[in-house]
Amino acid sequence: MNRRPFDPRLLRRVPAARRDLAVLAVLGGLTALLVVAQATALATLLATAVDGRLHRPALAGFVAAVAARALVSWGQGTVAARAAATVKATLRGDLLRAVGRHGPTWVAGQRAGQLATLTGRGLDALDPYFTGYLPQLVLSVTVPLAVLARIVLADWSSALIIALTIPLIPVFGALLGWQAQAATERQWRRLSLLGGHFLDMVAGLPTLRAFGRARAQVDVVRRMADGHRQATMRTLRIAFLSALVLELVATLSVALVAVPVGIRLLGGGITLATALLVLLLTPEAYLPLRAAGSRFHASMEGLTALDEALTLSATPAAAATAATPLPAPDGRGEIRFEGVTVEYERTTALRDVTLTIRPGERVAVIGPSGAGKSTLLNLLLGFVAPTAGRVTVDGVDLAEVDLDAWRRQLAWVPQRAHLFAGSLADNIRLGVPDAPDTTLARAVRDAALDEVVAALPDGLATVLGERGHGLSSGQRQRVALARAFLRDAPLVLLDEPTARLDSASEAVVLAATRRLVAGRTALLVAHRPALLGDADRILRVEDGRVTELTPTPAGKAS
Ligand code: ADP
Ligand code: MG
Repeated sequence: MNRRPFDPRLLRRVPAARRDLAVLAVLGGLTALLVVAQATALATLLATAVDGRLHRPALAGFVAAVAARALVSWGQGTVAARAAATVKATLRGDLLRAVGRHGPTWVAGQRAGQLATLTGRGLDALDPYFTGYLPQLVLSVTVPLAVLARIVLADWSSALIIALTIPLIPVFGALLGWQAQAATERQWRRLSLLGGHFLDMVAGLPTLRAFGRARAQVDVVRRMADGHRQATMRTLRIAFLSALVLELVATLSVALVAVPVGIRLLGGGITLATALLVLLLTPEAYLPLRAAGSRFHASMEGLTALDEALTLSATPAAAATAATPLPAPDGRGEIRFEGVTVEYERTTALRDVTLTIRPGERVAVIGPSGAGKSTLLNLLLGFVAPTAGRVTVDGVDLAEVDLDAWRRQLAWVPQRAHLFAGSLADNIRLGVPDAPDTTLARAVRDAALDEVVAALPDGLATVLGERGHGLSSGQRQRVALARAFLRDAPLVLLDEPTARLDSASEAVVLAATRRLVAGRTALLVAHRPALLGDADRILRVEDGRVTELTPTPAGKAS
């Protein structure tokens, strides 16, 4: 975890925020000067008031300093809020571009939920960081320096004491911060454990009920929750204690300055005006450091979000390494896998796969779940890049081509089609937004979607709800097939298109699938024998290795 109070990557990655941050620094310096001016004027005012006189210039100076501080503080708030907005907007854009650049496999690897949270609410945690902590951090540097400089001029012995005691605040703060951090991390781990267990339990509740284990699980959750409560209390105790300790250090330090000044004032070794100045300024030196410390905890979340966002959006794309990508080969070309290995963090999905798919071949891929079948398709889709070896089309390495152009040569029917909020027609036009109505109607017929369209209230114009509610899995798959028909691409990739369907829908989808693969190069992940009928070849994937099966006689019939 990043514990630095300011991430220097920010300046490089969000250049638009540089000016605002510079303005914040200048305003911090200005505040420091005003703090000194205000105390100087007040000390003069008080010292002359003891003699029964009113020092008019000092009064005017004091009022002016107070007014100017209010103005500067307002300015700080505005600039900080603007910097926060700029940084958030830039990082959100960067994250979304990173998602576009890396593709879905990367998103899945980054835990999609975490990424979505970060891009959405997560980055909002930067607001307290920019508006609260960062301005205070600037002040904690500028104000003590200005105060020290002023006191050196007035009374160097007091300045020496301040210079020696001020470092105690960040030192103690850091010591206590480590404790708090360790406690917070422990607490976080417990919370994740509790969350995971709770999720498991809710998901398995019917099973637990049926086997009479529900009560016992409730006790487990209660014990875990209790542990979590104790951990929380420990963290809170440390937080409160650290506030108290810092308060105490600051107060004692001020006393160390004040007592000698008082004694010297009685002995006549120092003028009243100087003594007042020292006494007024000394607490100001400690204040910003303590304030920054107390806001550090509140801004931890923002700093963590910042760190994650900067790291994630900077990860270079695995595939797009070539400086200028080559033009995409034709989807009708010969596809070769040459010693391809795909390794994920914990698993090896494919091991040294070598195979050739000739133009127009319909290849069925079978194998147990987790064998690496989808990875084979993801390589062709450019969603994953080989860890070793290469995938070529007509001799051109896919790692070097313009992937967007290459993907225009493909149609993809995934295991579970994703429908977007919008009309059914727009959903089918996903890959070909400007397809004319007649072409659309043909794709609908080819995908056996016409009977579905007829039953919908507004036909093709029917608006599908978020995540496409209102269509069954079988109907969704037909939408996916209609997309592929409309795309009319020379190479089609199908990933278990009928895996979730009942037998009635399966028959319909199967017939449409047959029509789709006819006359194209097709790679079809099949989990049911019914899909193998039209295949020219059958590949078997098992534990990342691919072997060729002799085609069934039925496969030769077509
Ligand atoms: P199949 O489609 O044959 O069921 P996959 O190709 O989806 O298998 O997965 C092969 C192996 O790679 C599995 O062990 C799976 O857990 C792993 N895997 C797939 N995608 C990812 C990913 N994005 N990150 C990490 N591991 C993955
Ligand atoms: Mg799969």
